[in-house]
Amino acid sequence: MATPSRPLIAGNWKMNGRQADGLTLARALAERAAHEQLAAEMLICPPATLLVLVADLLNGNPIALGAQDCHPKPSGACTGDIAAPMLADVGCSYVIVGHSERRAGHHEGDGLVREKAAAALAAGLIPIVCLGETEAERDAGQGLAVVERQLAGSLPGSVEAARLVVAYEPVWAIGTGRTPTTTDIEAVHRHLRGRLAGLVAEPHRVRLLYGGSVKKSNAREILALGDVDGALVGGASLNAEEFWAIAATCP
Ligand code: PEP
Repeated sequence: MATPSRPLIAGNWKMNGRQADGLTLARALAERAAHEQLAAEMLICPPATLLVLVADLLNGNPIALGAQDCHPKPSGACTGDIAAPMLADVGCSYVIVGHSERRAGHHEGDGLVREKAAAALAAGLIPIVCLGETEAERDAGQGLAVVERQLAGSLPGSVEAARLVVAYEPVWAIGTGRTPTTTDIEAVHRHLRGRLAGLVAEPHRVRLLYGGSVKKSNAREILALGDVDGALVGGASLNAEEFWAIAATCP
């Protein structure tokens, strides 16, 4: 079966970076991307305060820009929130929704994540829908059931497969330096691909990313796995050399 067109390597900067270091990081990547072509599509998701600056810097560059969250409503009395059309307006083409740090820290459930993903699509953005089990759920043998439930609950009703990215991020692997075995990653991705078949047409066109302590030393073996169409990278995306090296391992 055909695989998605191009792998995606996405960098989630989380709540890091002031103007000077954010611009230095984005500039280092942009300069490289202007001269070297990679098999993978590269995406950076800086904090909201840097989006306009980085969008300006990336103008005409192949690196895509994304945000880390959006509100389900297109506008309104939602102090402190940012709507998907506002992200599209400043040059974003992707937005992360349902990251485990938001699910845990902001009590976001599948229903809200689904609304955010739908809002992103309505604004012309590609949502990166994150899901993953906690360590306790994994130890209880519930890992697959949890991600399956999150997948079914977090995807909008009708979505074109090519405009959807799903990131499998085991919570216990995020920022810990620990990763599942490659056998486990492949098994979960295969399972998710199978479940996608009941949720979207052309499930093979959905890009399925792995996230959780990806670095240049483990990227090659993870990105070569079946049903792994890229990576969502946190900590290692804050270093231009390391992030580029990860993207460069994409087959
Ligand atoms: C993330 O924040 O999505 C992530 C995967 O973080 P890290 O790469 O640091 O584990």
